[in-house]
Amino acid sequence: MNAYAQAFKEAARRYAADTVHRDRIQQALAGYYVKRDENKARFQSWPGARAAAADIKWEAVNHLDRYLEEFVSKLEARGTKVFWAPGAKEARDYIIGVARQHKVRSIIKSKSMTAEEIHLNGALEDAGFEVVESDLGEFIVQLRQEPPYHIVFPAMHLTRRQISDLFHERLGSEPTNSPEDLTMVARRVMRRKYCAADLGISGANFAIAETGMISITENEGNARLTTSLPKVHVAIMGIEKVLPRLSDLALFLPMLATSGAGQPIACYNTLYGGPRQPGEPDGPEEFHVVLLDNRRTALLADVEQRDALHCIRCGACLNVCPVFKNVGGHTYGTTYPGPIGSVITPHLRELQDWKHLSQASSLCGACTETCPVKINLHHHLLRNRRNAMRARPGRLEKMLQTGFAFMMRRPALYQFAARAGRLAQPLQPLVQGTVFDPLRAWTQTRSFPRVAKKSFRKLWRERKKS
Ligand code: SF4
Repeated sequence: MNAYAQAFKEAARRYAADTVHRDRIQQALAGYYVKRDENKARFQSWPGARAAAADIKWEAVNHLDRYLEEFVSKLEARGTKVFWAPGAKEARDYIIGVARQHKVRSIIKSKSMTAEEIHLNGALEDAGFEVVESDLGEFIVQLRQEPPYHIVFPAMHLTRRQISDLFHERLGSEPTNSPEDLTMVARRVMRRKYCAADLGISGANFAIAETGMISITENEGNARLTTSLPKVHVAIMGIEKVLPRLSDLALFLPMLATSGAGQPIACYNTLYGGPRQPGEPDGPEEFHVVLLDNRRTALLADVEQRDALHCIRCGACLNVCPVFKNVGGHTYGTTYPGPIGSVITPHLRELQDWKHLSQASSLCGACTETCPVKINLHHHLLRNRRNAMRARPGRLEKMLQTGFAFMMRRPALYQFAARAGRLAQPLQPLVQGTVFDPLRAWTQTRSFPRVAKKSFRKLWRERKKS
């Protein structure tokens, strides 16, 4: 077992046994489920909306070359500087270069999972820049020096008391249990940072090819301040964020808000088309867009799993995943936790290093059922398992599969094994979890399923007779 898998296993065991943590996540999500369903009902047809969204993303991703070129040419025509970053290092170096060129001292940043993916904050800090997260949840986890817990709710694992203690310790504020007071503490710190910042960094939720604009959706107004107060704005986004038309936002903005946060629409939805134009009163003097590949084109080349690039990062699949709810977001050890993280991390990083994430699933299909753009998530987990196995079959897996194939080609042997299993079943509880139990790794934490009293063949024969 590699180091990533070992770390995952240990953390999963620890978190799954922590009932306080599990209760907290359940509580945090209880309100979300109600609001999500209320807002789904506002759509004329939620299944119809999902089908339309899947079609639009299919069109965008299958013609990504054309739509990206259209997006970039329109952006550049208004004076935006576009950088195509093949990997994380190139993206980090470019942004550090922009900061150095402008002799930046302080950077304000709004929420961006793509920036998390390339570990941008650490690189900027190592290069001597101060970076402050302006999204409240991100600000909290930044103070705790830990990664976001969830794609949409970075600090959902923390209580008010923990946040109050953190602010008291790090910002010198008075302890309080009031969310409003805690927000005001963060607000006072951030307002000063906005005014001092020379560079604003943001992500992008969507990139509109037709108009050459990026769309940012948020609830705190922090992204608007981040992108409009500093003289220079850098937006970083994965190349898959493209939507063909401006009118597509009429579907995607409410869909993202409903699936992501159980809202009819997010509080602030803003389009950015370039730096300040002559005669405009505000906006950045310089606007850069970093388009990150980071192995997305390799995923694009995989016809079978390409639709994983349709993801709009709503986080809905995390919220329904029984594994995520039990082991929590930090256990994954990746930027993108939950089902979508388990699908794409082996592609964005190394399949053999991260294949264990695809194993950590009951394949219940709740993620696929909830995904607003209809990504076939649990099938992709199976495909990752298959690909990892084909590329480097383990000795045990090979033995089991050879044995299984041998038996399946010999019906008499299969029937004999099934009968033997049925006869041995009463002994199983006596040895369960002991050294005499060959399946103890499984049965230590769960009961072994009972073999059916009658085989399918027997039931079929009876049915035919009757
Ligand atoms: S895979 Fe689907 S449900 Fe999960 S984050 Fe992406 S869009 Fe949302």
